[in-house]
Amino acid sequence: MAVNREYKPGQVSPALAEAALACPDALSGALTLPPMEQGAEEVLTAWLHAVYARLRFPSYEPWNTAICVLLQLGIASDAMTLAELSDFIRSYAAKISGKDSPGVKCLDCGQVHDLSVIGNFTAPRGHPERDTSPVGVLADFGAVAWADAGPHGLLWLTPLGRSLAISLFFNASPHPTDSVADVIEVIGPVPAPAQRIMMQYWLTGRSAPDAVRELLAYGETFMGFAEEGAARLLAAMVGPDGLDGWRDWAAKPGYGVYARQWMEAAEESLPDSVTEDQKQLDKLWLGIDEVNSLAERGPGQFLGWFKAVKDKGGDAGVNAILFAWRLTGHPAVDRFVSLLIKAGLASEGVGDHPALG
Ligand SMILES: [Zn+2]
Repeated sequence: MAVNREYKPGQVSPALAEAALACPDALSGALTLPPMEQGAEEVLTAWLHAVYARLRFPSYEPWNTAICVLLQLGIASDAMTLAELSDFIRSYAAKISGKDSPGVKCLDCGQVHDLSVIGNFTAPRGHPERDTSPVGVLADFGAVAWADAGPHGLLWLTPLGRSLAISLFFNASPHPTDSVADVIEVIGPVPAPAQRIMMQYWLTGRSAPDAVRELLAYGETFMGFAEEGAARLLAAMVGPDGLDGWRDWAAKPGYGVYARQWMEAAEESLPDSVTEDQKQLDKLWLGIDEVNSLAERGPGQFLGWFKAVKDKGGDAGVNAILFAWRLTGHPAVDRFVSLLIKAGLASEGVGDHPALG
C-alpha cells in the first residue's frame, strides 16, 4: 500500500497520535494501533494505513464521496455547513452523471437542504445509513468533528483529518518518476478536483507540453479501454501550458482528433497540415465514439440500428458505412464488424472494400 512517506522521529506531534488512539474505531476495538510507547510516528502511520485500507486505496469504491468530503473540508480550511457541503457533492455528482437535482433553496442560507448525499452520520454504528455515510466513515477514524447535525450545523476536519488529507492528497500522490500507468492507477479513481491536486507533484518531473504528449501517447495505446479516457482527462487537466503538446498531436491522423477538439475548444488554430478530408474523418471518428458507447451500453440497440440500415440499404448499405468508418482508423470498427458478423447482420470481409463484390 502506497502511504509513501515514512515519518521521521519528532515529525508527528504526540497529540495527534493520542487523537488516533482515542478515535471511535480504536476505542471500540475495531481498530488496533501500536501503543504510544512505540512512538507517535508508529501510531500515526498505522492509523493512516487503516484509513487507506478502509477507503480501499487506490480504488476508493465505494468511498469516492468520502474523498470529496475530505478534499472540500480541507480546501475550506474552516468549518462548512452541512448544507454547503451537500450542495458541493451534489453538484459534483451532477457534473459526472449529467443529471441535476435542483430542489428548493433555503431562504436563510441559499442552499438546498438535501443532506442525503452525506448520509445519517449521527445514527448509531451498525445502522445501514450510518455505515454507508461518507462522513460517518471519516468520523469512525476521528477525522471530522461537527456541531449540530442539522443543515445549518457545522462540520470540519480535526487535526487528524488534516494529516489524512495531507497524506492522501500530497504524500500518496504519484512521484515524478512514475509511469502514466502508475499515475492512472493511483489517481484515476479519485474525483476530478482531487486529481487536479494529486497530479501536481508528478507534473514537476516534466514540462506541461511533455505531460500532454506522454498522456496522449499512453491514451492512444489504450483506445477502447477505461485507461484511455482517464489519460485524456488528465491531459486536459494539465491546462493551457500544455498547448504545444496538444498542437503536436493535432497534426496526427486518427487519435489526434482529440487534440484537434481540444485546440478548437481553446480557440487555437489547427496546424496547417490538417486537411479538410481530415476534418471529415474526425467527424466520423467522433460519431463512431458515440456508436461505441451505444454498443457498450446496449448491444441490442446497436444491432437494431444496423438492422434498420440493412433493411433499407441491404448489405451494400452496411458495407458502405463500415468502409467509411474503417478509413478513420478508429479501433472500435473491428469490434463492430465482429459483433455484426456474430449477429448475422454482415459477413466476413464487410467494410474491406468500397463496394461489395
Ligand atoms: Zn438553510
